[in-house]
Amino acid sequence: MGYRDVLINRDGHFGKFGGRYVPEVLVPIMDDLRDEFFSAIKDDDFVSELRSLYRHYIGRPTPLYHCKNLSDTLGGAQIYMKNEGLLHTGAHKINHCLGQALIAKRMGKKRVIAETGAGQHGLATATVCAKFGLDCIVYMGAKDYSRQRPNVFWMEQLGVTVIPVTDGDQTLRDAINAALRDLISHPEETHYLLGTVCGPNPYPAMNTYFQKIIGEEVRDQILAQTKTQPDYLVACVGGGSNALGLFYDFLDDDQVNMIGVEAGGKGVSGDEHAARFEGGSVGVAEGFKSYFLQDADGQLASTHSISAGLDYAGVGPQIAHLKESGRVKFSFAVDEDVIKSYQLLAQSEGIFAAMESSHAVAEVIKLAPTLNPDQIIVFNCSGRGDKDLFIVTRELEDEGFKNFLSEQVSSQS
Ligand SMILES: *Cc1c(COP(=O)(O)O)cnc(C)c1O
Repeated sequence: MGYRDVLINRDGHFGKFGGRYVPEVLVPIMDDLRDEFFSAIKDDDFVSELRSLYRHYIGRPTPLYHCKNLSDTLGGAQIYMKNEGLLHTGAHKINHCLGQALIAKRMGKKRVIAETGAGQHGLATATVCAKFGLDCIVYMGAKDYSRQRPNVFWMEQLGVTVIPVTDGDQTLRDAINAALRDLISHPEETHYLLGTVCGPNPYPAMNTYFQKIIGEEVRDQILAQTKTQPDYLVACVGGGSNALGLFYDFLDDDQVNMIGVEAGGKGVSGDEHAARFEGGSVGVAEGFKSYFLQDADGQLASTHSISAGLDYAGVGPQIAHLKESGRVKFSFAVDEDVIKSYQLLAQSEGIFAAMESSHAVAEVIKLAPTLNPDQIIVFNCSGRGDKDLFIVTRELEDEGFKNFLSEQVSSQS
């Protein structure tokens, strides 16, 4: 069996990873969702509605852009960017949010719940719920709720009820527990919209299906532009959805090399990072078996990254399988290099990549000079950088922006 058949399958096991470790009461709910999903993707009407929304609502296909200046500067391989940052809402997350909203509608669900840490997933979920007229509740750890105010504001503008969760250490983990409790109490009318290729079966397979359009487009676009296929694919890895989206279509093409880039934070020798393959170990958490950063008691460890979207202690089970089988190689980028890569891309191509995506750029900057000018790297720019205004201005210690903020404060009071 090829990798593609393994990664989207009904039983949700990927080598020794994946599965469905959930309370008994959730089993029939997950079974229904799985059955609906696998029947939907065989239904021509469903597939054509999805394709139409990809095109007309979120703006697919996204460009595949030859970063000629960056390629010339680095003096090696030809670098191409798949620009998911140009999608509606600014990142690839809308691909699987749209797909799951269609599944929820098909199941007659009236209510969608989600959890979010940095708020990006909450915002993409809020967007599709507004469009499809679904009631939406987003759980956020109380700490995240206050520090991610801009996203909370936008979610509320879209009609979402955002609920701060005051249990535990008031972050993503606690929000996930609150969402699961909600699902258990309202199983009939609720769809739990999960934001990456993690969680219990069928979420990893389902979100991979909705993201694989990225690589499918790349295959046609790179062929049209260069008459050949890429030598390397590079993507950042939080949960793993944008990486699998880019990689999936090429997994059974042996000549295409793939690199996933984790968040190296302040360095992988300490504990302020989120590189699960550098110091993580196999475990079961949040409904699935995979690699997790764990503390001595086996609890999920706290993580750090300059990018909120890569800052998760676990990684998707399919990604763990691709690591274990050797099909995909993994590396990491530290915060300091991420900021420099973000600036180099902006200054050479006029494109601000998200902090998450800038991890992929950092790897490209290392890789390209080791290759020949007739070789091709495609990296996924999973999102655009506007959302990171506050992070980047703080990181670069921009005085003018600080003054601007204090003026705003005085003018609003
Ligand atoms: C959320 C996010 C990620 C990380 O999630 P994956 O599931 O690993 O793709 C990466 N890039 C951007 C722009 C994001 O918003």
